[in-house]
Formats: sequence, C-alpha cells, structure tokens
Amino acid sequence: MRLGVLRETAPHERRVALVPQTVQRLRAAGHEVDVERGAGESAGFPDQAYREAGARIVERDLVLHECEILLSVQCPEAEDLASVPPGVVIIGLVQRSGANRFLAAAAAGHLTVLAMERVPRTTKAQAMDVLSSQATVAGYQAVLLGASHLARLLPMLTTAAGTIPPGRAFVLGAGVAGLQAIATARRLGAIVSAFDVRPIVKEQVQSLGASFVEAEAVSAAAEGSGGYAKELAEEQQRKVLEAIGKQLPDKDLVISTAQIPGKPAPRLITEEMVSRMKPGSVIVDLPVESGGNCELSRPGETVVAYGVTILGPLNLASQIPQHASLMYSRNLQALLEYLIQDGRLEIDRDDPIAGPMCLVHGGDTAGV
Ligand code: NAD
Repeated sequence: MRLGVLRETAPHERRVALVPQTVQRLRAAGHEVDVERGAGESAGFPDQAYREAGARIVERDLVLHECEILLSVQCPEAEDLASVPPGVVIIGLVQRSGANRFLAAAAAGHLTVLAMERVPRTTKAQAMDVLSSQATVAGYQAVLLGASHLARLLPMLTTAAGTIPPGRAFVLGAGVAGLQAIATARRLGAIVSAFDVRPIVKEQVQSLGASFVEAEAVSAAAEGSGGYAKELAEEQQRKVLEAIGKQLPDKDLVISTAQIPGKPAPRLITEEMVSRMKPGSVIVDLPVESGGNCELSRPGETVVAYGVTILGPLNLASQIPQHASLMYSRNLQALLEYLIQDGRLEIDRDDPIAGPMCLVHGGDTAGV
C-alpha cells in the first residue's frame, strides 16, 4: 500500500508519525512510503535519512492526494482533507483543538479515521498503545522539567563545602507516567514516595525503590474497569486529601499524574496545601489540560504562589521528540502489521482493536 507521512501542523508539535527505521521495515514489507518534505526535521530526522530508508520525499499536496493511508501524530487540519480521495484511511491522535471540524470534513469526504488514543489497553494491543508510550516519555520529562526549576539539588552530595541532603520527591498517581516519574526521580538521587487510589500499584511503586503512601478508607473499591481508577466517594476523597496534605510540607518536587478516564482530573492539591509547602519547591501538574490535580495550575503556564513554582506543561512527550517519535512510530508499525492483510486494509467495526479506534468509517460517523 502507499503510506503517507504528514508534517505536523499543531503548534509546538515536534514529533513525527514514522521515523526512518520504521520506514525501512515497512518498505521491506512491500509498502511504498511518501514523506512530506521536512516532516521529521523537528524530531531530528532529516529528509535524507528517509530517502536512505527508501521513502520518497514529496510536497504535502502529493501526500494528501496520492496515499491510501495517511499517518500523523495529531490529526491534520480540516482544510487538508479537501484534496484527499474517498476511501483513504487517516491514523493519528484525534484530540487536538479543531478535531470536531476535522471529523466532520473526514465524514463529508467519505474517509476513514482511526484514533490512536482509542487503542484498547489490552495485552493483544500493547505494542500499539500510544497512551502508554507517550506517557512514559511525559513522566520522565516531567521530572527533568521539575528538577530544572527547583531551587535545590536532588541528589545527596558530599563535598568539601559540606553535605547536601537528598531532595524529596512525591508522585501522585502511579500509572504509566507516574511509575516512569518515580524511576526518573530515583535515578536523580531523590528520596521518592508515591500515592495512588489503586492499592494494586503499591508493589510496583515499592519495586522501583519508592515508598507507598497509604490513605485510610481507600480500598480496592477505587479501582474501576480496565485497571483504571474511578471517582471517589466524598468521604474517601476527604481521606485522600488529608493523606496528601500530610505529605506535601517536606517535599521538594511533586509530580502529579492522577487521571480518571472520561472525567476531569481529580483535584488533589488545594491552595491551602500549596501555602504549607516549602518555598523553592516545585509542582509539575501533568493532567493540566483536563483540569489539573492542583487548584493553582494553569495550562501552559508557570504560576508562582507562596514561593512554590507550579508548572502546567502541555504536550510533554513532544519535548523529547526523537524518542517519543520512535515509540509512536513503532506503535503505528504494530497497528499497520495487524490491520493490513494480503496488501489490503479492511476495517471491521467488530474487530476488538480497529472497532473502538474507528471514529469515521467511509464517511459514516457512528463511532463518534
Ligand atoms: P491514567 O493516566 O488514567 O491515570 C494515572 C493514575 O492516576 C492511575 O494510576 C490512577 O489510578 C491514578 N489516580 C486516579 N485518581 C486518583 C486519585 N484521586 N488519587 C491518586 N491517584 C489517582 O492511567 P494510565 O497510566 O493510563 O493507566 C492506568 C492503568 O491502566 C495501568 O496502571 C494499568 O493497570 C492499565 N494499563 C493497562 C495496559 C495494558 O494492559 N495494555 C496498558 C496501559 C495501562
């Protein structure tokens, strides 16, 4: 099949859908790959690397007009779809602003859209799971970002100028991003503790060398379907806030990653809690776009309150574009290998992986 890689158009997006290494594998499997000129530049993959991998470097119009499958990190603009022939399949993340216009244009153009954020979190689809691959990068980067804003060092240092005690990091939410944040903070030498409402993660937290904070009254009842958390009852929420509130005053770096699928992020750090933190400490609030875990964080902004720096970074994975792209690209490769059979891509709405991902099918929007 002819696959097309689009250059990203969303502001500050530095990732690219396919990296040259994956292009080479897809070429070996018999596919043609067209890459829009400059598509990999911001991720550190020049056009020449794609040419050497067997891709054709072309202008955007040609990718849109000639390819049977269009690959992107974030979905293209609605305006791009005017020149895309009916029947083309577009695969990417469909969560950027303007996504509704994009989906309407795809439906009008009789296209098919597969949303990468809807890959089911099952063992079979693990290799295609971009939420996990990108959350891994985001969890790592959150710690580096936070550490670079700290007024203190994280590792313990014994020097001629005296001994510096290790910093204390606290990770809220020990899912994919949180576990990577714990591992990264540990590598930087911090003493790390973590909290999650799913008691099942206690062992994973401890195996990374961090201590697990227990909250009274939070039980297995906090775990919903698919291994995700669910919203807490009022009394449980009060106990959780109490437990977190006790932790914060001696922490230097707080990385918050708590989310509940389909709901606003749980509010876990109040202004009153921030006011009791050490001046010079830092909070990195990952779910800031879905409301944030900290009352004071603002999307894309740095807020300083009570001497505490509160960061609300957007699209953290894009800040490490080379490896984030490599992982995204491997997720796409696994999906394409699964979907393309005998040189054809047929989407079956009943397929356990393609079904949930399919938002538009040949113009039909029943999946939205
Ligand atoms: P997520 O981004 O939805 O949430 C992050 C973390 O926040 C979760 O661990 C959640 O329990 C926690 N959280 C929610 N409310 C909280 C609160 N009030 N206080 C503290 N913590 C709170 O989750 P995720 O990282 O995408 O994944 C969560 C889980 O999904 C994984 O740990 C795993 O069990 C499962 N998963 C399975 C697969 C697979 O099988 N292929 C892949 C990825 C994830």
